[in-house]
Amino acid sequence: MASFFRCPSVPRRRVSRAVALVSAAATAGVIAACAPDTPPAAGPAAWGISYEAPKRGSGAEAEFLRKRRVLEEVRSSLAQQYRLPDGVTMTAKSCKDPEAEYDPETGRIVVCYEFVGETRDLLWGADRSDLDERVEGALRETLYHEGAHALIDQWELPFAGREEDVADQFAAYQLIRQGARGQRQLAAVADTYRLYAEDSDLEDIDFSDEHSPDAARAANYRCWLYGARPETHERLVDGTVLTQDRSEGCEEEWEALRRGWEHLLKPHREGNGTP
Ligand SMILES: [Zn+2]
Repeated sequence: MASFFRCPSVPRRRVSRAVALVSAAATAGVIAACAPDTPPAAGPAAWGISYEAPKRGSGAEAEFLRKRRVLEEVRSSLAQQYRLPDGVTMTAKSCKDPEAEYDPETGRIVVCYEFVGETRDLLWGADRSDLDERVEGALRETLYHEGAHALIDQWELPFAGREEDVADQFAAYQLIRQGARGQRQLAAVADTYRLYAEDSDLEDIDFSDEHSPDAARAANYRCWLYGARPETHERLVDGTVLTQDRSEGCEEEWEALRRGWEHLLKPHREGNGTP
């Protein structure tokens, strides 16, 4: 059964599985070709980016990330908006499992090449039109989601509710405001959650998990997209993933989400003038 390994049960302030993975990789002499990128001009602190050499079989995924500049685009977009915290690095690497996560102990966001491959396989089976663009969208959403964990951690942002839901909200907030392309990409993300949900048996769903179930995440993303642009995204209200009942409150949900995040981020905006 497929499951979404992103952010695998990593409470804040706990040494996560990423650390163990890095140690194992270092011991095996796997880490190589780390290539720290230069920070973008727009951000004074900016986040570092590194690519580790892919293990055999993950070369295409590594090439995809580099060629599409997925990590660089997300960093650039955040740096243009906010004074980014110090000490956050986005690392693309080979891992044991297909996952992505933020590790507060190391200040590192890891996106695994295996996660890129899993995302492509999932979307390949659903709709092959614009496949690269859809995969890129899902990965950008992942980076924004993990970026939210980093900002919450480093800025000690106050919030109510589950952090995983709040991180999803941040990813939606970023992509929706990017216009048609960001919104198409977010729709692809909702599709990945829908597909994961379809691939899961009800009895395998862990309702105590810190993440909302995949079907709920698919509904949330559709709801916020529809709420932001009801006239454009009417088709997302399909009566199954997103019901008519839920859709009636989506404009208000989106507005509350947008307002909440703008309030949280205001002190950190570029040009705000406050520290
Ligand atoms: Zn998360």
